[in-house]
Amino acid sequence: MTTELSPSRVQRVRHELKRRELQVARVSTLSPHFRSITFTGESLADFVSASFDDHVKFILNAGTDAMVARDYTPRHFDASARELTIEFALHGEGPAADWAAQAAPGQQVTVGGPRGSFIIPLDYDWHLLAGDETALPAISRRLEELPAQARATVLVQLGDAADRRAFRSEADVRVQWLDASQSLTAAVRDLVLPEGEGYAWCAGEAASMAELRRVLVEEKGHDRHAIRAAAYWKRGATAHHENLAD
Ligand SMILES: Cc1cc2nc3c(=O)[nH]c(=O)nc-3n(C[C@H](O)[C@H](O)[C@H](O)COP(=O)(O)OP(=O)(O)OC[C@H]3O[C@@H](n4cnc5c(N)ncnc54)[C@H](O)[C@@H]3O)c2cc1C
Repeated sequence: MTTELSPSRVQRVRHELKRRELQVARVSTLSPHFRSITFTGESLADFVSASFDDHVKFILNAGTDAMVARDYTPRHFDASARELTIEFALHGEGPAADWAAQAAPGQQVTVGGPRGSFIIPLDYDWHLLAGDETALPAISRRLEELPAQARATVLVQLGDAADRRAFRSEADVRVQWLDASQSLTAAVRDLVLPEGEGYAWCAGEAASMAELRRVLVEEKGHDRHAIRAAAYWKRGATAHHENLAD
Protein backbone atom coordinates (compact mmCIF):
# COMPACT_ATOMS: atom_id res chain seq x y z
CA MET A 1 0.00 0.00 0.00
CA THR A 2 1.45 3.45 -0.97
CA THR A 3 0.11 6.86 0.03
CA GLU A 4 0.33 10.29 -1.62
CA LEU A 5 -1.15 13.67 -0.63
CA SER A 6 -3.12 15.66 -3.24
CA PRO A 7 -3.35 19.52 -3.26
CA SER A 8 -6.67 19.23 -1.43
CA ARG A 9 -6.88 17.56 1.96
CA VAL A 10 -7.99 14.35 0.36
CA GLN A 11 -5.64 11.40 0.60
CA ARG A 12 -5.25 8.86 -2.19
CA VAL A 13 -4.20 5.37 -1.18
CA ARG A 14 -3.29 2.59 -3.58
CA HIS A 15 -3.84 -1.07 -2.80
CA GLU A 16 -2.39 -4.13 -4.38
CA LEU A 17 -4.94 -5.31 -6.95
CA LYS A 18 -6.33 -8.73 -6.15
CA ARG A 19 -9.11 -10.89 -7.51
CA ARG A 20 -11.03 -12.94 -5.00
CA GLU A 21 -13.31 -15.92 -5.56
CA LEU A 22 -16.27 -15.52 -3.22
CA GLN A 23 -19.46 -17.30 -2.36
CA VAL A 24 -22.84 -15.78 -1.54
CA ALA A 25 -23.44 -16.29 2.17
CA ARG A 26 -26.69 -14.35 2.70
CA VAL A 27 -29.20 -12.30 0.74
CA SER A 28 -31.74 -9.91 2.16
CA THR A 29 -34.25 -7.54 0.64
CA LEU A 30 -33.82 -4.03 2.05
CA SER A 31 -36.65 -2.39 0.10
CA PRO A 32 -38.49 -3.04 -3.19
CA HIS A 33 -35.46 -2.16 -5.36
CA PHE A 34 -32.55 -2.99 -3.04
CA ARG A 35 -30.94 -6.31 -2.17
CA SER A 36 -28.12 -6.63 0.30
CA ILE A 37 -25.81 -9.51 -0.59
CA THR A 38 -23.10 -10.78 1.74
CA PHE A 39 -20.16 -12.65 0.22
CA THR A 40 -17.68 -14.79 2.06
CA GLY A 41 -14.36 -16.46 1.29
CA GLU A 42 -10.95 -17.13 2.82
CA SER A 43 -9.41 -14.78 0.23
CA LEU A 44 -11.06 -11.85 2.06
CA ALA A 45 -8.45 -12.28 4.82
CA ASP A 46 -6.45 -9.30 3.50
CA PHE A 47 -9.32 -7.28 2.00
CA VAL A 48 -9.14 -3.54 2.78
CA SER A 49 -11.68 -0.82 2.05
CA ALA A 50 -10.39 2.48 3.40
CA SER A 51 -13.13 4.79 2.13
CA PHE A 52 -16.88 4.89 1.55
CA ASP A 53 -15.96 6.13 -1.96
CA ASP A 54 -14.20 2.82 -2.79
CA HIS A 55 -15.44 0.38 -5.35
CA VAL A 56 -14.84 -3.25 -6.13
CA LYS A 57 -15.16 -4.83 -9.57
CA PHE A 58 -17.99 -7.29 -9.34
CA ILE A 59 -17.31 -9.98 -11.95
CA LEU A 60 -19.70 -12.60 -13.27
CA ASN A 61 -18.63 -15.52 -15.48
CA ALA A 62 -14.97 -14.56 -15.02
CA GLY A 63 -12.73 -15.67 -17.88
CA THR A 64 -15.55 -16.49 -20.32
CA ASP A 65 -16.93 -14.64 -23.36
CA ALA A 66 -19.96 -13.73 -21.25
CA MET A 67 -17.85 -12.01 -18.58
CA VAL A 68 -19.51 -9.00 -16.94
CA ALA A 69 -17.60 -6.55 -14.72
CA ARG A 70 -19.41 -3.75 -12.87
CA ASP A 71 -18.41 -1.37 -10.08
CA TYR A 72 -20.00 -1.64 -6.63
CA THR A 73 -19.41 -0.03 -3.24
CA PRO A 74 -18.11 -2.18 -0.39
CA ARG A 75 -20.99 -1.33 1.92
CA HIS A 76 -19.68 -3.27 4.89
CA PHE A 77 -16.68 -5.47 5.59
CA ASP A 78 -16.40 -7.74 8.60
CA ALA A 79 -12.74 -8.76 8.78
CA SER A 80 -13.15 -11.37 11.52
CA ALA A 81 -16.02 -13.13 9.74
CA ARG A 82 -14.41 -12.55 6.30
CA GLU A 83 -17.68 -11.18 4.97
CA LEU A 84 -18.14 -8.43 2.40
CA THR A 85 -21.58 -6.89 1.90
CA ILE A 86 -22.73 -5.05 -1.22
CA GLU A 87 -26.11 -3.41 -1.73
CA PHE A 88 -27.43 -3.79 -5.28
CA ALA A 89 -30.04 -1.44 -6.76
CA LEU A 90 -32.45 -3.51 -8.88
CA HIS A 91 -32.73 -0.98 -11.68
CA GLY A 92 -34.24 -3.50 -14.05
CA GLU A 93 -32.15 -3.88 -17.18
CA GLY A 94 -28.53 -4.96 -16.66
CA PRO A 95 -26.68 -8.23 -16.03
CA ALA A 96 -25.41 -7.19 -12.60
CA ALA A 97 -28.84 -6.03 -11.44
CA ASP A 98 -30.43 -9.17 -12.94
CA TRP A 99 -27.90 -11.34 -11.15
CA ALA A 100 -28.60 -9.59 -7.83
CA ALA A 101 -32.34 -10.12 -8.27
CA GLN A 102 -31.86 -13.91 -8.41
CA ALA A 103 -28.82 -14.27 -6.11
CA ALA A 104 -28.94 -17.11 -3.59
CA PRO A 105 -26.57 -18.55 -0.99
CA GLY A 106 -23.86 -20.79 -2.42
CA GLN A 107 -23.44 -19.00 -5.76
CA GLN A 108 -19.87 -18.12 -6.81
CA VAL A 109 -18.65 -14.72 -8.02
CA THR A 110 -15.32 -12.97 -8.48
CA VAL A 111 -14.55 -9.60 -6.92
CA GLY A 112 -11.56 -7.44 -7.86
CA GLY A 113 -10.07 -4.60 -5.84
CA PRO A 114 -10.46 -2.05 -4.40
CA ARG A 115 -7.49 -0.78 -6.39
CA GLY A 116 -7.34 2.51 -4.54
CA SER A 117 -9.10 4.68 -1.98
CA PHE A 118 -9.97 8.36 -2.06
CA ILE A 119 -10.05 9.30 1.60
CA ILE A 120 -12.03 12.43 2.42
CA PRO A 121 -11.20 13.68 5.93
CA LEU A 122 -13.90 13.46 8.56
CA ASP A 123 -13.16 16.88 10.06
CA TYR A 124 -14.71 19.20 7.48
CA ASP A 125 -17.11 21.75 9.02
CA TRP A 126 -19.86 20.28 6.88
CA HIS A 127 -20.42 17.45 4.43
CA LEU A 128 -22.79 17.39 1.48
CA LEU A 129 -23.73 13.93 0.21
CA ALA A 130 -25.90 13.86 -2.89
CA GLY A 131 -26.89 11.24 -5.42
CA ASP A 132 -29.35 8.66 -6.67
CA GLU A 133 -29.99 4.97 -5.88
CA THR A 134 -26.44 3.98 -6.83
CA ALA A 135 -24.99 6.41 -4.28
CA LEU A 136 -27.21 5.20 -1.45
CA PRO A 137 -24.87 2.41 -0.23
CA ALA A 138 -21.88 4.80 -0.13
CA ILE A 139 -23.91 7.54 1.57
CA SER A 140 -25.20 5.06 4.18
CA ARG A 141 -21.63 3.94 4.89
CA ARG A 142 -20.30 7.49 5.11
CA LEU A 143 -23.00 8.51 7.57
CA GLU A 144 -22.11 5.53 9.76
CA GLU A 145 -18.45 6.59 9.70
CA LEU A 146 -18.95 10.31 10.45
CA PRO A 147 -18.25 11.29 14.08
CA ALA A 148 -20.73 12.91 16.45
CA GLN A 149 -19.46 16.46 15.86
CA ALA A 150 -19.89 16.24 12.07
CA ARG A 151 -22.71 17.98 10.18
CA ALA A 152 -24.09 16.38 7.02
CA THR A 153 -26.71 17.38 4.47
CA VAL A 154 -27.98 14.46 2.41
CA LEU A 155 -29.97 14.70 -0.81
CA VAL A 156 -31.08 11.48 -2.47
CA GLN A 157 -33.21 11.09 -5.56
CA LEU A 158 -35.10 7.79 -5.85
CA GLY A 159 -37.42 6.40 -8.50
CA ASP A 160 -39.62 4.85 -5.81
CA ALA A 161 -40.24 6.46 -2.41
CA ALA A 162 -40.58 2.96 -0.95
CA ASP A 163 -36.77 2.65 -1.22
CA ARG A 164 -36.21 5.43 1.33
CA ARG A 165 -34.36 4.18 4.38
CA ALA A 166 -33.47 5.26 7.88
CA PHE A 167 -29.78 6.17 8.17
CA ARG A 168 -27.63 5.28 11.17
CA SER A 169 -25.28 8.08 12.18
CA GLU A 170 -23.84 9.81 15.20
CA ALA A 171 -23.51 13.00 13.15
CA ASP A 172 -26.01 15.81 12.87
CA VAL A 173 -27.75 14.76 9.64
CA ARG A 174 -30.39 16.55 7.54
CA VAL A 175 -31.96 14.39 4.86
CA GLN A 176 -33.96 15.49 1.84
CA TRP A 177 -35.54 12.78 -0.35
CA LEU A 178 -36.42 13.66 -3.92
CA ASP A 179 -38.60 11.67 -6.29
CA ALA A 180 -37.94 11.06 -9.98
CA SER A 181 -39.94 14.15 -11.02
CA GLN A 182 -37.80 16.44 -8.88
CA SER A 183 -34.41 17.73 -9.92
CA LEU A 184 -31.38 16.97 -7.80
CA THR A 185 -29.65 19.95 -9.39
CA ALA A 186 -32.48 22.31 -8.46
CA ALA A 187 -32.47 20.99 -4.89
CA VAL A 188 -28.72 21.59 -4.59
CA ARG A 189 -29.11 25.04 -6.17
CA ASP A 190 -31.70 25.89 -3.49
CA LEU A 191 -29.43 24.83 -0.65
CA VAL A 192 -27.81 27.45 1.51
CA LEU A 193 -24.35 25.97 2.01
CA PRO A 194 -23.27 26.29 5.66
CA GLU A 195 -20.40 28.53 6.78
CA GLY A 196 -16.94 27.02 7.08
CA GLU A 197 -14.97 24.47 5.10
CA GLY A 198 -17.18 21.87 3.50
CA TYR A 199 -16.80 18.88 1.21
CA ALA A 200 -19.35 17.89 -1.42
CA TRP A 201 -19.52 14.24 -2.49
CA CYS A 202 -21.93 13.45 -5.31
CA ALA A 203 -22.54 10.26 -7.29
CA GLY A 204 -25.19 9.14 -9.74
CA GLU A 205 -26.19 9.42 -13.39
CA ALA A 206 -23.51 11.04 -15.59
CA ALA A 207 -25.44 14.02 -16.97
CA SER A 208 -26.97 14.81 -13.60
CA MET A 209 -23.56 14.69 -11.88
CA ALA A 210 -21.93 16.97 -14.47
CA GLU A 211 -24.69 19.52 -13.90
CA LEU A 212 -24.49 19.16 -10.12
CA ARG A 213 -20.75 19.83 -10.20
CA ARG A 214 -21.24 22.88 -12.39
CA VAL A 215 -23.90 24.30 -10.06
CA LEU A 216 -21.75 23.79 -6.97
CA VAL A 217 -18.55 25.22 -8.45
CA GLU A 218 -19.78 27.89 -10.88
CA GLU A 219 -23.08 29.04 -9.38
CA LYS A 220 -22.44 28.53 -5.68
CA GLY A 221 -18.69 29.23 -5.70
CA HIS A 222 -17.83 26.01 -3.90
CA ASP A 223 -14.07 25.19 -3.82
CA ARG A 224 -13.35 22.95 -6.84
CA HIS A 225 -10.81 21.00 -4.75
CA ALA A 226 -13.45 20.12 -2.19
CA ILE A 227 -15.83 18.27 -4.44
CA ARG A 228 -15.99 14.73 -5.75
CA ALA A 229 -18.61 14.26 -8.47
CA ALA A 230 -18.67 10.78 -9.95
CA ALA A 231 -20.74 9.30 -12.75
CA TYR A 232 -21.77 5.93 -11.35
CA TRP A 233 -23.79 5.10 -14.49
CA LYS A 234 -24.80 6.73 -17.75
CA ARG A 235 -28.19 6.53 -19.39
CA GLY A 236 -27.95 4.23 -22.44
CA ALA A 237 -24.39 3.03 -21.67
CA THR A 238 -23.17 -0.06 -19.84
CA ALA A 239 -20.56 -0.17 -17.07
CA HIS A 240 -19.93 3.57 -17.13
CA HIS A 241 -17.65 5.11 -14.46
CA GLU A 242 -16.10 8.54 -14.58
CA ASN A 243 -14.81 10.98 -12.00
CA LEU A 244 -15.85 14.40 -13.26
CA ALA A 245 -13.41 17.28 -13.18
CA ASP A 246 -13.11 20.68 -14.85
C1 LIG B 1 -17.66 3.62 -8.04
C2 LIG B 1 -19.06 3.03 -8.25
C3 LIG B 1 -19.75 2.49 -7.18
C4 LIG B 1 -21.05 1.98 -7.39
N1 LIG B 1 -21.71 1.43 -6.33
C5 LIG B 1 -22.94 0.89 -6.53
C6 LIG B 1 -23.62 0.25 -5.45
O1 LIG B 1 -23.10 0.10 -4.33
N2 LIG B 1 -24.86 -0.25 -5.69
C7 LIG B 1 -25.46 -0.14 -6.93
O2 LIG B 1 -26.58 -0.62 -7.10
N3 LIG B 1 -24.83 0.45 -7.97
C8 LIG B 1 -23.58 0.94 -7.79
N4 LIG B 1 -22.93 1.51 -8.84
C9 LIG B 1 -23.62 1.60 -10.14
C10 LIG B 1 -23.51 0.33 -10.98
O3 LIG B 1 -22.16 0.00 -11.22
C11 LIG B 1 -24.24 0.58 -12.32
O4 LIG B 1 -25.59 0.85 -12.09
C12 LIG B 1 -24.04 -0.56 -13.30
O5 LIG B 1 -24.19 -0.04 -14.59
C13 LIG B 1 -25.01 -1.71 -13.09
O6 LIG B 1 -24.68 -2.74 -13.98
P1 LIG B 1 -25.78 -3.58 -14.77
O7 LIG B 1 -25.07 -4.75 -15.37
O8 LIG B 1 -26.95 -3.83 -13.89
O9 LIG B 1 -26.27 -2.57 -15.91
P2 LIG B 1 -25.45 -2.14 -17.24
O10 LIG B 1 -25.27 -3.33 -18.14
O11 LIG B 1 -24.22 -1.39 -16.85
O12 LIG B 1 -26.47 -1.14 -17.92
C14 LIG B 1 -27.65 -1.61 -18.62
C15 LIG B 1 -28.61 -0.44 -18.85
O13 LIG B 1 -29.12 -0.02 -17.61
C16 LIG B 1 -28.85 1.37 -17.39
N5 LIG B 1 -28.51 1.54 -15.96
C17 LIG B 1 -27.36 1.18 -15.32
N6 LIG B 1 -27.46 1.46 -14.01
C18 LIG B 1 -28.68 2.01 -13.82
C19 LIG B 1 -29.35 2.50 -12.69
N7 LIG B 1 -28.80 2.46 -11.47
N8 LIG B 1 -30.60 3.02 -12.85
C20 LIG B 1 -31.19 3.04 -14.07
N9 LIG B 1 -30.61 2.57 -15.20
C21 LIG B 1 -29.35 2.06 -15.06
C22 LIG B 1 -27.71 1.72 -18.33
O14 LIG B 1 -27.76 3.06 -18.74
C23 LIG B 1 -27.95 0.78 -19.51
O15 LIG B 1 -28.88 1.34 -20.40
C24 LIG B 1 -21.64 2.03 -8.67
C25 LIG B 1 -20.92 2.55 -9.75
C26 LIG B 1 -19.65 3.05 -9.54
C27 LIG B 1 -18.89 3.61 -10.72
